[in-house]
Amino acid sequence: MQKNLYDVLGVSKDASDTEIKKAYRKLAQQHHPDVNADNPEAEKKFKEINLAYEVLSDKQKRQQYEQFGSTGGPGQGGFSGFDPSSFSGDFSDIFETFFGGRGSHGGRSQPRGPQPGNDIESLLSLSFEEAAFGSEKQLELTKADTCQTCKGNGAEPGSSIVTCHECHGAGQVRSVRQTILGQIQTTRPCSTCQGEGKIPEKKCKSCHGQMRTRQKSRVTVKIPAGIENGATIRLQEKGEAGIHGGHYGDLYLHIQIRPHATFERHGYDVHMRQSLHLLQSVLGDEIEVETLHGKIKLKIPAGTQIGQTFKIKGKGIPHMRGTGHGDHLVKVQVEIPQKLSKREKELYASLVKESGLTIKGEGGFLEKFIG
Ligand code: ZN
Repeated sequence: MQKNLYDVLGVSKDASDTEIKKAYRKLAQQHHPDVNADNPEAEKKFKEINLAYEVLSDKQKRQQYEQFGSTGGPGQGGFSGFDPSSFSGDFSDIFETFFGGRGSHGGRSQPRGPQPGNDIESLLSLSFEEAAFGSEKQLELTKADTCQTCKGNGAEPGSSIVTCHECHGAGQVRSVRQTILGQIQTTRPCSTCQGEGKIPEKKCKSCHGQMRTRQKSRVTVKIPAGIENGATIRLQEKGEAGIHGGHYGDLYLHIQIRPHATFERHGYDVHMRQSLHLLQSVLGDEIEVETLHGKIKLKIPAGTQIGQTFKIKGKGIPHMRGTGHGDHLVKVQVEIPQKLSKREKELYASLVKESGLTIKGEGGFLEKFIG
């Protein structure tokens, strides 16, 4: 929720109420969950639009937002601390009017049923090798989980669950509300019992009747060999606990592969640079190179050029789907000797003579030697 609310609706800062309303209606229709079934992006966008409208359509909230960048007040810091979900109750009223009802009107007279827990997103950092060969990682996370004391019913152990005194068990309360379409009568879930119709006689002391507490939990995750940087692993039902028997949310782990000192990954291939002495590249050699699968002998043919690349087949990263591996590619760098002994200088000079080159060399040494 870092975005500027005006940007969310695509209007300027001095937009009139009518402009805001118009922009909002257009966007809301476009992103409404009913026309974007199973599209979490649209749902997110929809919530954003609603939040923006909720604030900008209200004179007082808009003024506050302008003044503090938040609808909370100066103490609350930025707008980022603002929780859009706290508004969802208000939105639904407007939307039922707009779109002929989301869900069924009749359904509202029933107490709210199970509510699923939130999904959790987290970053998981892996070494180059862990990602290449797969691994098993243990994570510890703190999340909302079913209260251990009351086993998730919100009542102090030994006390009973009674009918809600606010809604008399109906789970909802009626109210008259001003919306952009005029005055309408709406019903909303009872805030005392959260739409349940029942409340604990004595609230559980551990969770204060919230049915969940924040708890540490351990998760074991199997990383498949060959997983790529930026991939996401979804662990079903490893997110936050639901309430009233709702299922757990999911845990999404975004994979971040740490860079390796020597290797660079390109798909399933591993790239590396290898330094060679000038004489190795001129005369050829057999060297050992480091690969993911251990040291491997590599033939350097005579006359190897700077930047030449050698491919060692099948010594890269295992394919995540199917079988086989990528390749290991070695790009050659040639080191030119910087300090020569007197004897080496003489030998290079005789090479110059032998090759018939006419080069001057440095410091007159060559002229003296070749004569
Ligand atoms: Zn409890």
